[in-house]
Amino acid sequence: MKIHEYQGKEILRQFGVPVPRGIPAFTVQEAVEAAQKLGGPVWVVKAQIHAGGRGKGGGVKVAKTIDDVKRIAGEILGMQLKTHQTGPEGQKVRRLYIEDGADIQKEYYVSIVTDRATQKLAFIASSEGGMDIEEVAHSTPEKIVTEFIDPLTGLGEEQATKIANGIGLPAESTAQAVDIFQKLYKCYMDTDASLVEINPLNRDSKNNLIALDAKFNFDANALFRHPEIVAYRDLDEEDPAEVEASKFDLAYISLDGNIGCLVNGAGLAMATMDTIKLFGGEPANFLDVGGGATAEKVTEAFKIMLKNENVKGILVNIFGGIMKCDTIASGVITACKAVNLSVPLVVRMKGTNDELGKKMLADSGLPIISADTMAEAATAIVAAVK
Ligand code: ADP
Ligand code: MG
Repeated sequence: MKIHEYQGKEILRQFGVPVPRGIPAFTVQEAVEAAQKLGGPVWVVKAQIHAGGRGKGGGVKVAKTIDDVKRIAGEILGMQLKTHQTGPEGQKVRRLYIEDGADIQKEYYVSIVTDRATQKLAFIASSEGGMDIEEVAHSTPEKIVTEFIDPLTGLGEEQATKIANGIGLPAESTAQAVDIFQKLYKCYMDTDASLVEINPLNRDSKNNLIALDAKFNFDANALFRHPEIVAYRDLDEEDPAEVEASKFDLAYISLDGNIGCLVNGAGLAMATMDTIKLFGGEPANFLDVGGGATAEKVTEAFKIMLKNENVKGILVNIFGGIMKCDTIASGVITACKAVNLSVPLVVRMKGTNDELGKKMLADSGLPIISADTMAEAATAIVAAVK
């Protein structure tokens, strides 16, 4: 789960990581009031969307008067902000953050992510923070330092100092950097984050450090123990189909292709998408209906897939274990009738009661294409959507 920058800064503040004073605003009027409350003399008006690269896209602007704040807030609020992370259509700006303008001497990059390969945490830092970090990673990777932290021992002073020295922080800033890095580590662990990124971590002319941006991802499997983080969820920033699917306990992810897939089990869903691609097709979504799929659940799944205008055909691939194939067949038949299915449908079922399930589909009178193997199913659906 992602959150907004201003929410991330609230969390950083709680963990003692220094951030500028700031106030979120939902209207131009609120932005002006926020600026008056902060008092200036310099403000930064920042678009709040769940994507980075806002600065380059025109979503972060400095204001030197209240009138500036008003004008800029009016420009940014409601704009379709396009960044390298939003996709070509951009993301609508519905919230702003009005923040004290910082005195920027040098911008650093720091982040923590879980590293599965080493089973540790990777603390990644660079002297070249700011809006071009992707370019730094691409052309001068030696300017990025990575320290692996053992979760059993945590981030000690020695390792934190090594990171601070590694990114060339001046001696005057080392003690503060060590303190910030350790607090950031604690924050990452205590909130069950899967990513925390401060870019930039600013050093001012007095060598004080302050976080000017905050990005968090949280492990969805741990959210049950963080109601305070769940409260930050902003459904406007999420894919509507994915939000709808989550209400029915369906694991759904939108993709760019034109073949809708309905599968039971995440592993089989991945294998199904791979097979579609292998036969020259493109999946329109990942959809795992789970082990306990009822006719209602299958119907909802069909509705969600069909809301996507790009879907030109559907492939159902079911392994009948505890979930019997005849149950799925009756679900598919009910769903086809309920949604008045008008795109080709290929069904492949294997396992418990598969013969019965196939017979039910054949007897239903619906134009369902039956397939025995995954290769057959993929060939049939790819041909059908062409
Ligand atoms: P993004 O990463 O989405 O582009 P940032 O929050 O990092 O957004 O802002 C982009 C740039 O704007 C930063 O690299 C920094 O140079 C500048 N900036 C951001 N916040 C402030 C601030 N409070 N004061 C001064 N400059 C800022
Ligand atoms: Mg940033």
